[in-house]
Amino acid sequence: MTFEDLGLEPSTLKAVAEAGYTTPTPIQNKAIPIVLMGRDVMGIAQTGTGKTAGFILPMIDILASGRSRARMPRALILCPTRELAAQAADNFAKYSKYAELNMALIIGGTSFTDQEKALEKSCDVLIATPGRLLDLFERGKILLNDVKYFVIDEADRMLDMGFIPDVERIAKLVPTLRQTLFFSATMDKEIRRLSEAFLMNPKEVAVDAPATTATTVTQALVTTTEADKRDTLRRLIKAEGVENGFIFCNRKKDVDILFKSLTKHGLNAVALHGDMVQSKRMEMLAAFKSGKAGLLVCSDVAARGLDVAAVPFVINFDVPHNAEDYIHRIGRTGRAGMLGKAFTLAVPADKKLLAAVEKLIGGPISKVTIGASSEVKAEVKAEVKAEVKTEVVAEDNSPKRTSRARGKPPEDKPTAKARDASPDVVKPIREERPKRRRERGRHDPDVGVMDHDDDVIAFGAHTPSFLKEEPPVVPEPELKAS
Ligand code: AMP
Repeated sequence: MTFEDLGLEPSTLKAVAEAGYTTPTPIQNKAIPIVLMGRDVMGIAQTGTGKTAGFILPMIDILASGRSRARMPRALILCPTRELAAQAADNFAKYSKYAELNMALIIGGTSFTDQEKALEKSCDVLIATPGRLLDLFERGKILLNDVKYFVIDEADRMLDMGFIPDVERIAKLVPTLRQTLFFSATMDKEIRRLSEAFLMNPKEVAVDAPATTATTVTQALVTTTEADKRDTLRRLIKAEGVENGFIFCNRKKDVDILFKSLTKHGLNAVALHGDMVQSKRMEMLAAFKSGKAGLLVCSDVAARGLDVAAVPFVINFDVPHNAEDYIHRIGRTGRAGMLGKAFTLAVPADKKLLAAVEKLIGGPISKVTIGASSEVKAEVKAEVKAEVKTEVVAEDNSPKRTSRARGKPPEDKPTAKARDASPDVVKPIREERPKRRRERGRHDPDVGVMDHDDDVIAFGAHTPSFLKEEPPVVPEPELKAS
C-alpha cells in the first residue's frame, strides 16, 4: 500500500513525500482510511509506530474544508506530557506545510500570554496537555463547542498520571457529535472501559509494538551494589564507549543526583524529569536532541514517547517499578531498524522487580561483567544476604500490593504542582547550594552535601526492602489542574 492508496489529498501527499516517508506504517495503513470515512477509532499502538501521522494526516484533510475562528478550535489533540504535545505540534507543522491551518500549542510551564495570543488568531487545531487546557478554558480564553475532531493520545499514560478526570471533563466540554480517536499503547479492562465512554461505534485498529525493539536491541544485566552503583555506571559507560544514550532512574530525586554526579565526572549529560521548570526541560531536551549533550538522565514519565532518532544506548540505572516501563525504556533505542544496546543495573534488592521484567519479556536478561572488583563482588554477596533477611521480615509484616492496583501512582507521577504547572508553581530543579554538613545531611563525594531525605544514614547506602514498602492507602486529595 502507498500513501496515494490511502486517499489523502495531493497537498498532504506532497508534505509526506518531503518528510521522506515512502511507505505508510501498519497503523497508518489501518487507521487513515477509517478516519477519512469519519469513523471513531480505538487505536492500540505504541509510540514509534508512526501513529502521530496516523491521526494528523487525515485530520489535515478533514479540516481543509471549513473555516477557523479565533479561540474556537475545530480539532483538539490531548497529550499526557508537554514533550509529547510539543512533538505532536512538530509533526503537525511538518505535515500541514501545504494546508492553510493554524495551530496553537497549549502546555503548562510556558507563558499564558503567548498562548492566549495564539488563540486570539484564528485557530484550527489545538494541541494541549489537559491541565493547561482546562485552565485557559476556565479563564474564558478557549471555547470548545466547535471541536469536531478529538484525539486522546497515550490514554494509558493519562491513566497512570491521574489525568483521566481532566480528560473526562474536557470530553464533556466538546460537542457530543464529533469524531473521536483514542490511542493507547496497552489495552486492559480500565482502558477499554474508558474508550467505551469516549467513543461511538469505534473501529478498533491494533498494531504490535515496533518489531525493531525485540530484534535489534541487545539486552544485558549488570549486577552491582547500592554503594557502587554510580561507579558501576561510569565503568559501564567507559567500557562500552557510551557517548549517546538514555539513562533511566525511577525517582526524580535520583535523576538530579545522577545528573550532578555524571557532570562532576566530566560526562556530557543533561537531565529531564517532571518537576523541572519547563524552560529547563525544553533546554535540556533540545541539547540532547541536537547532539550537544550525549547522555540524557531521565524519569519514565518525562521520557516516555520521546522520538529521538538513532540513540544507540539505553541504561536502566534502576530496574523499573512497573515491568512494562522496561519495554518503553528499551524501545528508546534500536529504532527504525538500527542496532541498540540496553543495559540494566540491578542490586540484590531488585530481585522481585527484575523477576517481573524477565517474566514480561519471557526470559532472563543475560548477565555481563564489566570488571567488577573483588571488593564489589563481596559487597554484592553481603547485600544478597542482607536482602534475604529483610525479605523474611517484610513478607511477614506487609501485605503485597502493587502501586497501580491500589491506585497509588508510581514515584515518578507528577505532583499536582508539577502537573502542567505554570512557572510560578513548578518546583525548580534543586540547585546545589552550600549547606552545613552536620545540619543538613551527609556528604556525598559525587554530588556534594545531600539532604537528610536523600538517604537513610542508619542503614548505610543500602535501604532494606521493608522500608521501601508503600505506606497504607490514604485517599488522595483531588489533583488541582494548574
Ligand atoms: P510516532 O510513533 O508517531 O512517534 O512516530 C515515530 C517516528 O516515525 C517519527 O519520527 C516519525 O517522523 C516517523 N514516521 C512516521 N511515519 C513514517 C513513515 N510512514 N515512514 C517513515 N517514518 C515515519
